[in-house]
Amino acid sequence: MNLKKNDIIKLKISSMTAQGSGVGRTEDGIVVFVPMSAVGDELEVRLLKLKKTYAYGKIESIITPSPSRIEPDCDAFSRCGGCVYRHIDYNSELEIKYNRVKDAAERIGGFEGLRINPTVPNDRVDRYRNKAQLPACMTESGVDFGFYASRSHRVIPCSDCLLQPESFNRIARIVAEFMNATNQTVYDERTGRGKLRHLYIRYAEMTDELMVCLVVNGNGLKREDMLADALKKEFGNLKSLIVNSNKENTNVILGDKNRVVFGSDYITDELCGKKFKLSPLSFYQVNRGQAEKLYKLAASYADLKGGEVLLDLYCGTGTIGLTMADRCKELIGVEIIADAVRDAEENARLNNVGNARFICSDASSAAEKLRQEGISPDVVIIDPPRKGCDSALIETIVSMKPERVVYVSCDPETLARDLKQFAENDYSVEELTPVDLFSRTPHVETVALMSKIKE
Ligand code: SAH
Repeated sequence: MNLKKNDIIKLKISSMTAQGSGVGRTEDGIVVFVPMSAVGDELEVRLLKLKKTYAYGKIESIITPSPSRIEPDCDAFSRCGGCVYRHIDYNSELEIKYNRVKDAAERIGGFEGLRINPTVPNDRVDRYRNKAQLPACMTESGVDFGFYASRSHRVIPCSDCLLQPESFNRIARIVAEFMNATNQTVYDERTGRGKLRHLYIRYAEMTDELMVCLVVNGNGLKREDMLADALKKEFGNLKSLIVNSNKENTNVILGDKNRVVFGSDYITDELCGKKFKLSPLSFYQVNRGQAEKLYKLAASYADLKGGEVLLDLYCGTGTIGLTMADRCKELIGVEIIADAVRDAEENARLNNVGNARFICSDASSAAEKLRQEGISPDVVIIDPPRKGCDSALIETIVSMKPERVVYVSCDPETLARDLKQFAENDYSVEELTPVDLFSRTPHVETVALMSKIKE
């Protein structure tokens, strides 16, 4: 059959991609990617883009729905670039995430029969985020906030994102009303003109402290006092109102200058019984409750007895290591961003952790330097960004011969690649546990335990 653009074909969805798109195969073996479909769907699909062996399509009609289908409960779903699984029941989503980890382990890592535990479910599938960065936009009825459409910078207005607390919507409304009442403009990426770029909100669940940050193209807004009053009136827990200046023509959200309009320049949250200071620029897990489960799992894999040297690579603001510092002799954290290292040191002081030190460096070079100094950690934790570890880093870790390596990963595919290198170098991969921190999105975290094979 000679397929062409705009043809409508029948298709059964048989699997999902890592990005959350459904996949089916035509009779001629052409793979068709269909967003917002579900495994088991029988569809009429309109072909939008055709290549030799694969094509992209969109659902024209559903002939027989997948048993895992549910009615999406958000108007912006399909237009906003956030959720991809709002049309699938939660158990099926957990299974999709499990399969993604398993497929990667088998296909990329070459691991057959590896123990992979079921995905740890999110206690709250909705409203789990403690942070929002909402781009400002101008609509017919004035200033509004929304989300970027998938792979674009077009703002889709959204009055209630189900991933964030309901209070964030009320904050957005107050800020929008203030912008309209004072006749101030929103930033336009194309012209570089206009004032308000983003509304950035952070909420510390355990202490109920709220931070509102306005990202402004310039040094500030007119009548900030008016906004502070309006916010304070409705939110007695407002601890911090900040203006962040970002005058660059860039898609990086935050600039590096903050000015306090009201209250403090930080809020404090608690994770695994430890306190963490959050300023606008500091990294913090967006799903506190699930992060706690993730760290507890990492701690159980680390299995510390008290006498160990613990190396926490890619430590960010120190969270993982600091929550385990009571159970080891010495903690060494490594992180490349200087501000994060300062936050980690501050967090150690805040929690009276006296056995930790932090190194600002690339993980590979720091590990190599520690090895040359003769430091041999008993347990190593790695939590790299999506691209995973350098193979040189894995070589160095292996040569330090730690008893156990705990790998916390936000990308099952690079995790599988890296585990393979460990497995080829005297480490046995014991088990993997996927954890759902980012429900309704395609992202999944995984914790892996490796142990040194006895010589
Ligand atoms: N473990 C932390 C942060 C993990 S995010 C937590 O759970 O909160 C990954 C971290 O790795 C980021 O803070 C990033 O700045 C840091 N990073 C990225 N590349 C790095 C490198 N080459 N060397 C060391 N740290 C790096």
